[in-house]
Amino acid sequence: MWKLYPELTFEDPIFDSHIHVVDTEALNTLVNVGTEHGIQKSLLICHSLDAKKYADEKYPGRFIYAKYFSGSMRFASGVEPLIKEIEVLKDEGYHLAKMQSAPVMRGRASASLDYLRMDNADMARFFDAMKDENIPFLLHLSDPDTYYATRYTDRNYFTSKERDLRELEGVLRRHGSMKLQFAHFAGQPEIHRLENLAKWFDTYPNFNIDTSSARWMSRELSKDPKIAKEFFIKYQDRILFGTDCVSWGPDRDYYEGRYLALRLLFETDGENMPLPFTDSDTVNTGGTFINGLGLAENVLQKIYWNNAHKFYDEFL
Ligand SMILES: [Zn+2]
Repeated sequence: MWKLYPELTFEDPIFDSHIHVVDTEALNTLVNVGTEHGIQKSLLICHSLDAKKYADEKYPGRFIYAKYFSGSMRFASGVEPLIKEIEVLKDEGYHLAKMQSAPVMRGRASASLDYLRMDNADMARFFDAMKDENIPFLLHLSDPDTYYATRYTDRNYFTSKERDLRELEGVLRRHGSMKLQFAHFAGQPEIHRLENLAKWFDTYPNFNIDTSSARWMSRELSKDPKIAKEFFIKYQDRILFGTDCVSWGPDRDYYEGRYLALRLLFETDGENMPLPFTDSDTVNTGGTFINGLGLAENVLQKIYWNNAHKFYDEFL
């Protein structure tokens, strides 16, 4: 489908550093659509060991594997079970651990604001277990500004995005000796947050970010493509292409929309291109439009392929 867009000129293979397998049937659709959009390899976050085995048998050599940890698990049963899961992670054939610990998880588990902060001493035991085994960690901790304005309003569980970002920076401060991938631009693709993210990059050398969530990235980075482009150029060695496609259904349009949106955003300098799917955050306020960053070929090459290979060289 993307071949219908002559402005997409990048023809070398692409590494998608953030996709999920939930349903194995749907993984086939995701892989097929991905291949049509240039994806040759991926970091696959597996929601079950069976799904991981399926992927490994069906697509040998295509994936490196992250074991999925739900963020609510730590609130429900504490740190000990997490450490046990880390101890068997490599034997199960995984390479990384991934935790989805968006603020919604704290609310879902009715956990108080200071219980098991990601940067506290109890959670440090979980991080130490990963360090012992040399396991990189992929973490999703914060969410779009739009969620804080509309969903995270219960003050029992949520305060502000600034608080959550301090917790995330606490992880960097405390665990400087391990490889970290922060999902969703470390929660900060909003133009007014790029300065803070730049400070993190300049301070902590051990983490990279991914561009996952085509909707969130397209909406926010398009708001000032000039500033966004400068950011990409400055930190071109620290950004990994990722979509956050989750294989849970056979709907091809879902996957196509994500790949197309991000490629239009990064490769073209088109203006006001409608996001090729609905953004529920802007559906009542006029919709989301992509303003392309028009990144140069050598920058794309790094974001699409080289950076993932450098960061995960021991697995590839
Ligand atoms: Zn994800």
